[in-house]
Formats: sequence, C-alpha cells, structure tokens
Amino acid sequence: HASRTDGVDKNVWVEFTQLAADYKAVNLGQGFPDFSPPKFIQEAFCKAVSGGPIMHQYTRAFGHPPLVRSLAKFFSRIVGHEIDPLEDILVTVGAYQALFCAFQALVNEGDEVIIVEPFFDCYQPMVKMAGGKAVYVPLRPKAASGAVLSSGDWVLSAEELASKFTPRTKAVVINTPNNPIGKVYKTEELQMIADLCIKHDALCISDEVYEWLTYDGAKHVKIASLPGMWERTITVGSAGKTFSATGWKVGWAISSGHIVKHMKTIHQNTVYHCATAAQEAVAQGFEREYEVFGSPESYFQQLPAMLHLKRNKLASCLESVGLQPIMPQGGYFMIADISSICLTFICMILLSFLQGLATIPVSAFYSPEHSKEFDKYIRFCFVKEDSTLDAAEDILRKWS
Ligand code: PMP
Ligand code: GLN
Repeated sequence: HASRTDGVDKNVWVEFTQLAADYKAVNLGQGFPDFSPPKFIQEAFCKAVSGGPIMHQYTRAFGHPPLVRSLAKFFSRIVGHEIDPLEDILVTVGAYQALFCAFQALVNEGDEVIIVEPFFDCYQPMVKMAGGKAVYVPLRPKAASGAVLSSGDWVLSAEELASKFTPRTKAVVINTPNNPIGKVYKTEELQMIADLCIKHDALCISDEVYEWLTYDGAKHVKIASLPGMWERTITVGSAGKTFSATGWKVGWAISSGHIVKHMKTIHQNTVYHCATAAQEAVAQGFEREYEVFGSPESYFQQLPAMLHLKRNKLASCLESVGLQPIMPQGGYFMIADISSICLTFICMILLSFLQGLATIPVSAFYSPEHSKEFDKYIRFCFVKEDSTLDAAEDILRKWS
C-alpha cells in the first residue's frame, strides 16, 4: 500500500456511527438532523429528478451552471465582492471534498498548515496526505474567573498564533462557527488572523459550513470580506448544513479564480462533478433564499431559531443531571465536562453506549499531543427532534 495511508486509517465517524448502530443508541453523536429538510427544497429535488433526461446526466464539471450562478449571486452580496460564477466557485461532493481539493491543490511537500484546535478531524489527515505538516494552535479558555461556560470565552492568543508562522507556512485553517465547541469568531478576532495571514503571505482556509447557525445574537462574519483577504481566502460551505440535507453531499469552495483554478485541476481528475439533480435543487434553494433573505420566511432565520430552542433544551437537560455544558454561540454541537459522573475516558465511552446514548469524545478534535487534556469532555449534537432529545434526557437521568 501507499505510505500516505499510514497513520490516517482510524476515523471517529466510521467507528462511532457503527457503534451507535450496533447498540441501537439514541444518537447525539454524528452531526446530522434527524428531521426532514424544508418542504421547498424537497420539492425542488423531486422537480429536478422528474425534470427530463438532462437532470440525470453529467453537468459542468466545476458546478452545475444554475448552482454556480445562484451561489455567486447570493454570496456576492454577503462577501461584498463580485463573485464570478465560472471562475471563483467550485462545487464539490460536500464540504469534505472542497477541503480535500484545497489541501491537494495548495499544499506542497513540507509546507506547514496552521490548524486551530479543537478542529474538525479531517483537516489533519488531509494536510498529511498532501505532504504537509500540521502545526497546532489552541483556542484556550480565558484565564478569567471561575468556570468557562460560553464558547465565546475560548480565545486564540495573537502572540501564540504569531509564534507558529515560519517561512514554510502555507495556510491557516479556521472553522467558524466551530465544530465541536460552537465558537463564532468576532470581527476583531478574524482581523487579527487576517493581519497575520497578510503579513506572512499565507492563505486562509475558512470552513463555514455552519454559517447560518448562530444563537444569542452572535453574528457570523466571513474572513474573506475583510480588506485584503478575498484574494487569499478559500471559503468552504455545505448544502448539507445549509438546508439540513447532509446526505445530498453538495458543498462548495469560493475563492479568487487564481486559487480555484488549481482546485479545479484536482477536482476534474478525481470526482469530476457531483450529482446533477442535487445541485439543481440546491440552486433552487438559494434562489428562494435570495428572494426572502432577512425575512421571517427565510430558512436561514427559521433554522437557527429552531436550533436555539433545541440548544437550550439540551443545556437544561445536562444541567439538571449535574453537568456543565459550554454554551455554543453557533453550530450543531455542545460540549460538556462529564468527569463529575464518570471517572475515566474509557468508562465514559463504554457507559454511554451500554446505556444507549451515542456521543463523541472531544479528544477526537485534538491532535494526539493535546487530546489527553480533553478526555473529560464529550460532544452532544442537538440538531435532533425533541423526542430524540427527550429520550437522551431519560438515559442521562438514569446514568447520573
Ligand atoms: N466541516 C465541518 C466543520 C463539519 O462539521 C463537516 C461535517 N458536516 C464538514 C466540514 C463536512 O461537510 P459535508 O457533509 O458537506 O462534506
Ligand atoms: N460533521 C459531522 C460531525 O461533526 C459528521 C461528519 C461525518 O460523519 N463524517 O458530526
């Protein structure tokens, strides 16, 4: 076998999804909604598949034309830059493939890629498979008084980040809203990262799959919209998270054409393009959202409003069994220190499955060097039907 597969064979999603199925567990583990996508997008998909022969055949390699046009129209308004649908966008098989194309196209053997910890686990193996070296910089709980109970209290130190740059630094990877803690970066924090990227002539790969999901008035800001950043940022998005349809696997990367050009090379020589009908439906979804943007009819308002309630429901449930969740400002997940009800990491994982509740250990989102320190946290997904959250609550009550 090829040595690039060494050391990247373990995958937390493969293992825990199997365990959850084996134990028929209430699944607050893997991040996907257990409810249906909105009607309008389901209808758009049905319409696409019954829309004649072309919807069942290949489309343009770098993105179905109606989809890249709607993405360009939608996001130009938000980024404050006229996005060229044909040059500046690559439609991919989920955000995963957008990330993969970015690392493959931009990272050379020996290049360093700075990753903010905790991070969505695939960044590290993808950097490694591209021949790069992952360099980690942590979000740290603010040293301030007492318990840190909001994801906003986890911050990146400018000095520490600055100290990680070397002449080999190719890119910095950020994720806002963050998986797993739910941090939503403030403009000042993004500006600090942007200043360092510009100073060191580095790229920024910004994973924004949860961009519409913010709570308590937290506001998602695109780093690509800051001065001097459009031409060095690759913004990654996902229709799975945007329209609650993770199984469709439609994602995208948006960046300057001179960067996307190289990502297209990887894409055309690997998957070529992703499912036509799914792309057509996502295009219709963005057309609709463009029309209703900012109004109460917008799914990008309705979904966070619904998830806000679910987040609060799960938080009260955890608190009622004596756990202290860190309140996420955004995203699908909430983490909690469970050392008060479980002494060891192994005990925690075992107990959770034996009792029928699937969760994910937060150590999976850390490099091997730092994962031990976070053994006592687990991640819960709250993008679930209230009945699923109730079933989880019943289990936690027996457990605690
Ligand atoms: N980035 C983050 C932060 C994620 O949580 C996920 C998982 N949904 C992805 C990327 C991959 O997204 P997709 O399902 O669109 O490939
Ligand atoms: N992004 C999802 C999560 O964090 C799942 C990804 C996957 O299943 N591969 O739970």
